Amino acid sequence: MESQQQYPQQFSFEFFPPKTAEGTEKLIKVREKLGAVKPKYFSVTFGAGGSTQQGTFDTVTSIQQAGYQAAPHLSCIGSSKENIREILKDYMDKGISRIVTLRGDMPSGTHEIGEFRYANELVEFIRSETNDYFHIEVAAYPEFHPQATSAEDDLNNFKRKIEAGANSAITQYFFNPDAYFRFVNDCEDLNINIPIVPGIMPITNYTQLARFSDMCGAEIPRWIRKRLESYGDDKDSIKAFGEEVITEMCHQLLEAGAPGLHFYTMNMSAPTLAIWKNLGL
Ligand code: FAD
Repeated sequence: MESQQQYPQQFSFEFFPPKTAEGTEKLIKVREKLGAVKPKYFSVTFGAGGSTQQGTFDTVTSIQQAGYQAAPHLSCIGSSKENIREILKDYMDKGISRIVTLRGDMPSGTHEIGEFRYANELVEFIRSETNDYFHIEVAAYPEFHPQATSAEDDLNNFKRKIEAGANSAITQYFFNPDAYFRFVNDCEDLNINIPIVPGIMPITNYTQLARFSDMCGAEIPRWIRKRLESYGDDKDSIKAFGEEVITEMCHQLLEAGAPGLHFYTMNMSAPTLAIWKNLGL
């Protein structure tokens, strides 16, 4: 973990683009509440196959116009170079200079892979088209990507993204800090020298969390799963337990030298702010 301690800690919040006018109004309020604690930036996800291309753009520009730094996510699977070039140009025209660069997943029903196969190819393309204009974030998987052929391959594939020009990484969420510590140590051994910021998922709803975690390969440890199951529909108990567990984990991560935290806010302010307050940030 030593190499991570040299980086200043930075805190960021992730949103998804709202689908309705009501969601857009709500997100403005959420953004103002979270903005009050002065995050480094807000990031905005990009739907599979570019399904939220306009929504991501609109949300990002609205955040920026409100005076915050905004970072769009951009995934490349199913895309052409021309389409990516246009998206990059639109962001450059708006002065957006930070981007979360991903492969993404093929949307169901689509079979055209497009001109990019992996995220490292997108990082390379962005660098070749725009030099050092963008600060490029990439995804990291302390518990390994669900399609990884082996831990070693996944680490080497992560390294390809750094060699292609990524500046920093955000991890998939996890509930087992040892997975993060080991991942960072392995990265040190591979001479990967960038900040690797832990992605944090507040616990608010067990069913949703279990479904989502199965899909993205994040493990919910048995002791957490069993307790959450035992609370049933008792939202207050889930909330109290979730807040305590995540606060404790964030505390451990920061104490050990993690270079900040990236919160998957799910477009809500209260769960993230509760953890924030507990941490005394
Ligand atoms: P890659 O880094 O390309 O890796 C994907 C898989 O391919 C891994 O198993 C890797 O080991 C393997 N691999 C990589 N490179 C090579 C290579 N050159 N040769 C052979 N194998 C290789 N999804 C969205 O749709 N929208 C979002 O906004 C979004 N935001 C995210 C933000 C974060 C912080 C994280 C952690 C994930 C996000 N995702 C998002 C999910 C992500 O798109 C999926 O996890 C996707 O399956 C992989 O994307 P990646 O960029 O990590 O892919």
